[in-house]
Amino acid sequence: MTVTVRFAPSPTGRLHIGNVRTAVLNWLFARRYGGTFILRLDDTDVQRSTEELAQGIRDDLKWLGLTWDREERQSARTARYDEIAEKLKRAGRLYPCYETAEELERRRKRQLARGLPPIYDRAALKLTDEERRKLEAEGRRPYWRFRLANTDPSDPLKPQPTLVTWVDLVRRDQTVDVGSLSDPVVIRTDGTYLYTLTSVIDDIDFGVTHVIRGEDHVTNTGVQIQLFEALGAEPPIFGHHSLLVGADGQALSKRMGHLSVAALREAGFEPMAILSLAALLGTSEAVEAHQSLDELAHLVDVERVSRAPARFDEAELRAINARLLHEMPYDKVRDRLENLGITGGEAFWLAVRGNLSRLTDAAEWWAVVSQPITPVIEDEELCRRAAELLPPAPWNEETWSAWTKTLQAETGRKGRALFHPLRLALTGREQGPELKSLLPLIGPERAASRLKGEVA
Ligand code: GLU
Repeated sequence: MTVTVRFAPSPTGRLHIGNVRTAVLNWLFARRYGGTFILRLDDTDVQRSTEELAQGIRDDLKWLGLTWDREERQSARTARYDEIAEKLKRAGRLYPCYETAEELERRRKRQLARGLPPIYDRAALKLTDEERRKLEAEGRRPYWRFRLANTDPSDPLKPQPTLVTWVDLVRRDQTVDVGSLSDPVVIRTDGTYLYTLTSVIDDIDFGVTHVIRGEDHVTNTGVQIQLFEALGAEPPIFGHHSLLVGADGQALSKRMGHLSVAALREAGFEPMAILSLAALLGTSEAVEAHQSLDELAHLVDVERVSRAPARFDEAELRAINARLLHEMPYDKVRDRLENLGITGGEAFWLAVRGNLSRLTDAAEWWAVVSQPITPVIEDEELCRRAAELLPPAPWNEETWSAWTKTLQAETGRKGRALFHPLRLALTGREQGPELKSLLPLIGPERAASRLKGEVA
């Protein structure tokens, strides 16, 4: 079987870390099995979907490196949906309803008061042609529900417990009782379609073999398996991964704007830090920084994602980001450093990467080695001698130890009493990258001036 998966966001908002989890698990699954990864834009909600947001989603995926083999959008497939809807109408599986939201709400309250399950009572199925005509003459437009196969033939309107089962890639044996659900609305009064139906039509038409999505869709799956059956198609294999939750255990809401991919990018996070975390949280693998998607593809197996909610912690993302940078080879950052105006080459990168939490922090260290700074003179005598004893150029990584050995012998200072004042004078900072690497980058002239307390 050739694997085909899809990531199906609605372009009603930008991607956030929760969507990234679904996207990357699908992408890695396709990579692992040499399959196809489809980007499907679920844009049947014309009121809320925009082209700008669709483009934003593409940009986010590209930035993350989650490239797709094929793009589809639901808004371009209305003719196909119409054709299938006609078929289902003829087969009696779609039926028109006219109740308003208020009418349904009143009925729901009545059912609850009587201790009945608040599901749609299929009253619309009892309407005669004449009653329907009358309602339409009053200006009511129908919307359409999918009639679930959940009744006993002796009483075709009354639902009875009906178990839909499947073996889920993540959750193993799953059961949804579609006898406890309302027939879902799949076509709105304005004729536009709802995702429940269009997703199934697309999955059939595009040959999707595995539907990997969040566990908030488990109940949908019960309904959608019945839709596959109604359309005479074999359902795909389903895998419902656990959702990311915040440190408080609550679902990450879409409103957490600072967790959008765009905001994380803006905040200086690396794509692979975001992807490593999104893919590994809640799996049996350690949550660690990985340098490439291929590396992750060898590691991540959807079947080993745990059912427990995966706790997302921003501090962990920051830590992973830092670890990723600490090991990042120069060729991966060369262009980005140049864009930041950093021209120190590989030597500079290797000197500072171990001190970065975000790549943009490199600019601060670039300024320390290449721009005037105000030195801090803590031990004037030591700094004066240090300036006098600076070795002649050219400097390299050995210079520091030769110089400080001489200084130790000359001044009797050692350990912190020697190194701390030198760091403060040379960098103006309490902490930072190793001085043996920084010193050659600072260079003899600047070093001499700074040790004398001059802005240089
Ligand atoms: N558009 C749906 C969503 O974003 C897709 C769900 C699915 O993968 O089937 O929730």
